[in-house]
Amino acid sequence: MMPPVKIICTIGPATWDPDVVRQLIDLGMTAARVNGAFADPDELDKVKRLVRMFSKDVSLMVDVKGPEIRLNKFKETLKIKPGDTVIIGSNPERDQIYPANYPDIYKLLKRGNKIVVGDGDVVLIVDKVDELEGKIYATVEFGEQIKPGKALNLVGVSHTEEVLTQKDVVNLKHGLSTGWDMVSASFIKNKASALKVREVIGDRMHLIAKIEDEEGVQNINEILEVVDGIMVARGGLGVSMGLEYVPVVERELIRKANQIGKPVITATQLLESMVENPFPTRAEVNDIETAVLLGTDGLMLSGETAAGKYPVEAVKTLVEISKFAYSFVEPREDFPTSSASLTTLALANAAIDIAHDMGDQLSAVVIVTRSGTTARLVARGNLKQPIYVFTNSELSRKGMNLVKGVEAAFLLEKGPPGFRTQRDVAVDFLKQLLKEYGLVKPGQRVLVLGKTPITGEEFFPNVFEVMTI
Ligand code: PEP
Repeated sequence: MMPPVKIICTIGPATWDPDVVRQLIDLGMTAARVNGAFADPDELDKVKRLVRMFSKDVSLMVDVKGPEIRLNKFKETLKIKPGDTVIIGSNPERDQIYPANYPDIYKLLKRGNKIVVGDGDVVLIVDKVDELEGKIYATVEFGEQIKPGKALNLVGVSHTEEVLTQKDVVNLKHGLSTGWDMVSASFIKNKASALKVREVIGDRMHLIAKIEDEEGVQNINEILEVVDGIMVARGGLGVSMGLEYVPVVERELIRKANQIGKPVITATQLLESMVENPFPTRAEVNDIETAVLLGTDGLMLSGETAAGKYPVEAVKTLVEISKFAYSFVEPREDFPTSSASLTTLALANAAIDIAHDMGDQLSAVVIVTRSGTTARLVARGNLKQPIYVFTNSELSRKGMNLVKGVEAAFLLEKGPPGFRTQRDVAVDFLKQLLKEYGLVKPGQRVLVLGKTPITGEEFFPNVFEVMTI
């Protein structure tokens, strides 16, 4: 059974032990992510093996970094203090520190430009660029250390238009051919950049757009139309827009995603202190509960599970806090927009109303869906009852791992003769499955919503009914 708010964990050195992965799954991890900065086909295979040893349900998410600039993996962390000069070179043969994937960023920079390192714990101001030597001389504004492999953000300087690097395409194609379920794509700024990723994956993977800068925030409506979900990439947002923008942007992105009925993941530093400590801070608990109360579908851990000292404790904490917070989520009925068909939208809104009105009298909402759209639209109503989903597509089933309130999703491919077209046969079969899977008990009432596809093919008959098991 999945927790009401979905838990996405980044897998890394701290979670490469099968026993740790097993514990994360038992606690409620619904999707495992590999960070694109470090991913290669071997690492994807390794993570897939680890997760599939214990679960066929957990979704596999590959992250692609696009034009992110990363420092090389130099040997020792560089200790720094404000006022120090840092030299960033461009030549792997000669320089100790240089941008590994974009060596010639020195061509774009001039005196006064700001370089933010990592999630913003170091800021450098460019003093001078030596074009001949290919070196950037910068003064430390603040920060204590620069770690190998950290991201460099050139504030206000765009260095490339590409959405996917060669490495990203290799990882995506590998993910596609080995059964990865979703991609989280960095720096999606508009519909066109989202469609470039779509060109590679087609409809064979879910596309989650990481919104990391002002352009992405401003174009969120057109982005939401063409992706399967979004991530509030608070690391990137904090660096590119300023930390003070993060809470208001988070609120707005969650609201927009909820309205249209596409899942939204809140990411980065949810439990940052648990990288080093076994307990969260009050402020972190507050942050997680706020995201849940605002309507987030998923919560993502990064360093906490990839490189922290307490990955298991972090997931346990996240599950407990988010479960508690979800029990206080207000019912939602204010949904002015969605790109779904009017029929689907009207039925989903009616299902939300019925679930709210019936309260404890209704034990579950059961949705039969191909693409998952009906389930996503119902889930945005913040139901108190568990939602059970039946679908004929494994990809749709895996997509439910990002949708709040969906407690379990099942494949529905085969059934007794006539179940695709005859209402009574279909309903009896569904009731039988619900009992078989231990989801409901005799005497309980459930709302069943299944809809013949508007395209007319035979999948499941029209059913919209509160029925007693
Ligand atoms: C972020 O910027 O918040 C983020 C999720 O990015 P990354 O994949 O680098 O952790």
